[in-house]
Amino acid sequence: MNKKATLLDIYKLLLQNLGPSNWWPGDSPFEIAVGAILTQNTNWHNVEKAINNLKQANLLTEEAIFQIDEQTLASHIKPSGFFNIKAKRLKNFVTWLYQEANLNLLNLQNYPLETLRPKLLAVSGIGPETADSILLYALNKPIFVVDVYTKRMFFRHGLIPEETTYSEVQELFMDNLEPNVKMFNEFHALIVRACKKWCTKKNPKCEQCPLKNLTA
Ligand code: SF4
Repeated sequence: MNKKATLLDIYKLLLQNLGPSNWWPGDSPFEIAVGAILTQNTNWHNVEKAINNLKQANLLTEEAIFQIDEQTLASHIKPSGFFNIKAKRLKNFVTWLYQEANLNLLNLQNYPLETLRPKLLAVSGIGPETADSILLYALNKPIFVVDVYTKRMFFRHGLIPEETTYSEVQELFMDNLEPNVKMFNEFHALIVRACKKWCTKKNPKCEQCPLKNLTA
């Protein structure tokens, strides 16, 4: 079976079994971008607490985070862990938005993906997974988000080697699928949900998993 057909099979099987994911949770594109930064090295439950703190303090806007001092910001996002580092990263991000987009994330939608991605990656503290999450989920750009779940599932099915880079895994999707924001959004979400449910780090539940008969 060719790679494109295998990817489409995985997508269909996961969607049939898990249903739509409706990702990414967030009331605004900026909230999604903030969530993408806060979720680094922590679980979503902790991110939600930090986001609620920001909401209650009326801090969930580009302007508010630009104006607030880093230490106070850190105190609001404590539940997300690594809060001093993340406060610095959020400040770096909004400072970049000030320079690049007049403090309005949505102004970035006019940039082509090829221009915007390197600019975002140049912001200190924004790595490929965070950048691509912001591009796909906040700005609706057709880029595939890769994470540890993607690597685990696709290695177990022989579609990527164990030692591989972010870009190499991303190319598997980008080279074999049409650039489709809706599908990339859903596919990444389904992979995460399937890994949490069946393809766990230890003792994967292959017998219960819809991909058990998949041949690479
Ligand atoms: S749980 Fe097993 S069948 Fe399911 S994705 Fe992981 S390795 Fe594949």
